[in-house]
Amino acid sequence: LFISLEGIDGSGKSTQAGLLAERLRERGIAVHLTREPGGSPGAEAIRSLLVEGDPARWSPETEILLFTAARRDHLERVILPALARGVIVVCDRFADSTRVYQGAARADLRRTVDALHDLMIATEPDLTLIVDMDPRAALSRGLARSSGEDRFEDMGAAFQERLAEGFRRLAEDAPDRCRLIDGAGAPDQVAARIWAAVEPLLAR
Ligand code: C5P
Repeated sequence: LFISLEGIDGSGKSTQAGLLAERLRERGIAVHLTREPGGSPGAEAIRSLLVEGDPARWSPETEILLFTAARRDHLERVILPALARGVIVVCDRFADSTRVYQGAARADLRRTVDALHDLMIATEPDLTLIVDMDPRAALSRGLARSSGEDRFEDMGAAFQERLAEGFRRLAEDAPDRCRLIDGAGAPDQVAARIWAAVEPLLAR
């Protein structure tokens, strides 16, 4: 079972990915918790190229290639082997982030994103949990925990609003795979909403 969590910066998706992995482990289920960009040594090296340094270093097209290269390495070295061993993979961001950030929000490059995905990734999660948050609330959370590592975080409310809208549209476009999760409230309240979406899949 392959589960991804998606959402804007500060939506709480990383906290939720951790809580979900913990809850599955408490049930005695083998879980691999991972993240993108990153998740394998090669992909983490590519992550550094993406999140550090001058934001203008890469064109939007080059950025898509880097995200796709990172995802390919993560997929072939970590995700697919874990799934083959019967381990549940919980991934903090996957291809939907690229569809929304690089494909729609930053520039209109969705066709490029989709073509590269089909060619190099061609894998979708069984379940994608889209943690929906009011961008202003998320922005204050996101900035509060900003480490300075991150060139992407300081992009303003209008950009965050475009992202949130992009994620909601994805949830509508792929209703069989995606669940829109209300990200408001305390972490354990959000975790309960997520568990309600995950638990039915465990019996299968
Ligand atoms: O989720 P995480 O905080 O680890 O993501 C790192 C940064 O990379 C975020 O600030 C996010 O905005 C950015 N990002 C991006 N495009 C993606 C995935 C993440 O711009 N496809």
